Amino acid sequence: MYDYDLLVIGSANADLVIGVERRPGAGETVLGSDLAVHPGGKGANQAVAAARLGARTALLARVGDDGHGRLLLDSMRNAGVDTAGVLVGGAPTGVALITVDPSGDNSIVVSPGANGRLTPEDVRTASALLAASPVVSAQLEIPLETVEEIVRGLRPGTRFVLNPSPPRELPDEVLAACDPLIVNEHEARVVLGADAGATPSEWAEALLARGPRSVVVTLGEEGALVADASGVARVPSVKVDAVDTTGAGDAFTAALAWRLGTGESLTESAAYAARVGAVAVTREGAQASFPSAEEIASM
Ligand code: ADP
Repeated sequence: MYDYDLLVIGSANADLVIGVERRPGAGETVLGSDLAVHPGGKGANQAVAAARLGARTALLARVGDDGHGRLLLDSMRNAGVDTAGVLVGGAPTGVALITVDPSGDNSIVVSPGANGRLTPEDVRTASALLAASPVVSAQLEIPLETVEEIVRGLRPGTRFVLNPSPPRELPDEVLAACDPLIVNEHEARVVLGADAGATPSEWAEALLARGPRSVVVTLGEEGALVADASGVARVPSVKVDAVDTTGAGDAFTAALAWRLGTGESLTESAAYAARVGAVAVTREGAQASFPSAEEIASM
């Protein structure tokens, strides 16, 4: 019996958002709206999404010993995430400085801060946590060598789910551990590099050929493709009026990772995750938009 249904290892950021009429040029100052501070970061987003669905969820991450870190810890605890594995200190909490113009376009500067100090040693120290869940989910807003250490530290039978975001080329050792590797179109193209195909099924097949046991390609309102040794299958999306797609991929990934751990097939898990992603796009924000299990059950 595991202590958790899902262990997420990844980033926690404070998203600092200011609305502007237009972005300042070099040397220029513009006035903007009141500051809004939202909890974010792909690791924290995934952990909150899973916990809100009822999964017993733990997070291994690092935040600074500062106000943003405390804000993030509070919001994760309120969502039901076990934050005992969240390390504190070493650098300021990661922040994303976001300006939004009237057309809704974002400009973002990310300071990884403490996320960049989540080290391979931190992963080794947390080996009991890695053994306490049937599924471990990670992203790439922490150092790649830390993700490599996660892969080395997995127990036999532990399922590893990776969303390579922000995308980069991945070592074979990491690719081989993924079951599944979850990518959107942009991530698929970057991970594949020059020999990316032209269609989503070609990306899925080309990615599978790189070593993962399974691959999921998310396609926004088109749903997703799942691919493994038995072939490629389409998972339809749920028709909704999209308001804000921020965090949809994180909610999708968390839901899928959790459902896999309950013993559902990849296709079943992806169908559940597509419903979670669809609800997330009907509301503003990332964590604020994530649905509860009751909402998904009543769809
Ligand atoms: P990312 O945010 O990583 O780019 P996607 O936009 O592909 O990821 O969204 C992840 C999943 O959320 C999709 O596979 C789909 O199931 C669901 N989703 C996203 N956008 C929509 C939408 N407009 N309508 C319905 N479902 C959506």
